[in-house]
Amino acid sequence: MSQTLVVCPFCGCGCNFYLHEKEGSAVGVTPSREHPVNQGSLCVKGWRAHEFINHPERLKSPMIRHGGIVRDATWDEALDLVSKNLINIKREYGCDALAFLSSAKVTNEENYLFMKMARAAFKTNNVDHCARL
Ligand code: SF4
Repeated sequence: MSQTLVVCPFCGCGCNFYLHEKEGSAVGVTPSREHPVNQGSLCVKGWRAHEFINHPERLKSPMIRHGGIVRDATWDEALDLVSKNLINIKREYGCDALAFLSSAKVTNEENYLFMKMARAAFKTNNVDHCARL
């Protein structure tokens, strides 16, 4: 078993915990006692932060819904469809007809790039993150 000190991604408090890994899987968390924000505590989201990583129902590839039917898709197919639809909506209704909602279950760097895409490429400030829901 190994452990890595990480920042909890679920809200802006920034609690720190040790993520425990065993045989390639995340198996638990222990709050950091030294971190000034959480001082050895976590809320229920932090305590369960490892569970989605290896969850059997976690989506690992894109899916496309068409005519009420959801099917597996390749990344190229899904990204082409999303970019085409985003560009069409922007052209037809303007930048603020778009909204971008990101996830706590990706890295901070990915969230930063997502925000840059919304603001720089699509010229909208309609960007948020599931931690505020
Ligand atoms: S443990 Fe709870 S309060 Fe702390 S950062 Fe994570 S979600 Fe926020």
